[in-house]
Amino acid sequence: VSMSERSYRVIKRRVSRQIRVGSVLVGGDAPISVQTMTNTLTTDIKGTVAQIRRAEEAGADMVRVSCPDADSTAALREIVKQVSVPIIADIHFHYMRGIEAAEAGAACLRINPGNIGSVERVREVVKAARDHGCSMRIGVNAASLDQKLLEKYGEPCPDAMVESALEHARLLEDEDFREFKISVKASDTFLAVASYRALAAACDYPLHLGITEAGGLRGGTVKSAIGIGALLWEGIGDTVRVSLSALPEEEVKVGFEILKTLDLRHRGVRIVSCPSCARQGFDVVKTVELLEERLSHIQEPVTLSIMGCVVNGPGEARETQIGLTGGGTLANVNAKNQVYLCGERAHTIGNEEMIDHLVALVEKKAAEMAAE
Ligand code: SF4
Repeated sequence: VSMSERSYRVIKRRVSRQIRVGSVLVGGDAPISVQTMTNTLTTDIKGTVAQIRRAEEAGADMVRVSCPDADSTAALREIVKQVSVPIIADIHFHYMRGIEAAEAGAACLRINPGNIGSVERVREVVKAARDHGCSMRIGVNAASLDQKLLEKYGEPCPDAMVESALEHARLLEDEDFREFKISVKASDTFLAVASYRALAAACDYPLHLGITEAGGLRGGTVKSAIGIGALLWEGIGDTVRVSLSALPEEEVKVGFEILKTLDLRHRGVRIVSCPSCARQGFDVVKTVELLEERLSHIQEPVTLSIMGCVVNGPGEARETQIGLTGGGTLANVNAKNQVYLCGERAHTIGNEEMIDHLVALVEKKAAEMAAE
């Protein structure tokens, strides 16, 4: 049995229905997709397209764009023409924006049917979605739970979140529309995880995971990794959005890191590196920082270990496709470092040339993998 097939590493995914967000399948056996959201003014078409492209380069499978007014849905029509990822239109309260966004080419509408006024309006939005091949996302958020549910339950709690989600879902089911995914987000990790668990047990719709308003890059990453990670580990979740007060491409990178860690999906170089200590033969921290930057264009899941010395270097090199282990100490910078290929000692390299050399090795490996 290979390392990756060991039983303690296997995550059994919840069986969910499959829907389509433009060209991307969500749910069922589709790979777990990663999404983000723009924070430009949607009417700033140029700025929004540039931001979407950066998210695309980071690997985003789809991108959400806010549509607060009619000018925004008009801009959306231009935006979707200029990008290749499916665009999700974020709609709140205004059913007309939903209809306009569907007509403008959105692949999915994030809209809560219970908040748009009447069954007749729900019917009109569903018709527009059907006519234009648009799916939907019901997005329940603990911070904007229905007053009626808050009165019934006293405070946002998993039961209230699930009840809200299923109420919205029923409005779409009544129109015989089942092309939707659901999220039950909260900024409190415990509440979000418990709500998703309960929702996962209550329906088979695909789930969009997120810990909402998670915070800045560092705090939000940890919070999301724990919340989203716990759910994914249990097999729950079909698409993820890491919500950070940071650039959209950072959200995408963190999303992929979570999926990589759980062996659910791989994209880009996975670097194993030591924290470094007095034994290091080269500056590990700076080397890893430089390599992350120089290798950010690689899409293939190449594994690379960057280890400061022989204590754990050879061991990590055995489990990675390309490995580098420090040969000397920082006090003796002329000692050569050992390069490993497929776990075997291959050749040595000096500190000066090693970055360019490793970048070339990874690029070659990636090209081989892409050709396979
Ligand atoms: Fe220190 Fe070597 Fe361990 Fe890196 S691998 S932390 S340099 S002992």
